[in-house]
Amino acid sequence: MKKIFAKFTFALSLASIVSSAPVFAAEAAPLKNALNKLIDGNQRYVNSATVCHEDWSAKRLAQTQGQAPFAVIVTCSDSRVPPEIIFDQALGSLFVIRVAGNVVDDFAIGSIEYGVTVLGADTVLVLGHSNCGAVDGALKGLKFDNHIQEVLNAIQPAVESVKGTSRNVLEKAIKLNVTHVEGKLKSSKPVLAKLLEQGKLSILGGYYDLATGKVEFLDKP
Ligand SMILES: [Zn+2]
Repeated sequence: MKKIFAKFTFALSLASIVSSAPVFAAEAAPLKNALNKLIDGNQRYVNSATVCHEDWSAKRLAQTQGQAPFAVIVTCSDSRVPPEIIFDQALGSLFVIRVAGNVVDDFAIGSIEYGVTVLGADTVLVLGHSNCGAVDGALKGLKFDNHIQEVLNAIQPAVESVKGTSRNVLEKAIKLNVTHVEGKLKSSKPVLAKLLEQGKLSILGGYYDLATGKVEFLDKP
């Protein structure tokens, strides 16, 4: 079924897909499968027992006719947080949106909608990470006279409440920023909020520890 969706194009109205033909009607149960795949893959990565990054030529050829990623990952551009590696997933498994500070704008949300409604992913994970420079910059109120400031402005409201607290301030801010972005996606109309309401989509938050490689899931379904 997912291969059929892979052939759809952006010309197809996302809104009409959602309102007229729920895309997961024949696949109502797999929401926890995606989470388990992510948990298992991250465990393999932590244990240096990865299995998905071998035999690239065969895997490339298997993916040429379409893609059917099982999850959308929204994470930071940080070079130390590559989703396919830290979740030990092969080509075609993850639909990834990366922006500094894992913030989302209309382009990012449009990409997420495409991953979910057209490609058939049923889980969206917003993933922050330890020592995130973008969140740290917002927390410190750094000022730039260029587009970096736009990123910090998007993070700023989410981290305001932890200012002045004494312990683990940056970690708290990073997790709050994840929760803030999750909330934005959960209320995003017309697509994501509706799929959530119908029980056809799961939106989760996570925190990646740069030192251990472990992903902490902040709100398991
Ligand atoms: Zn970051």
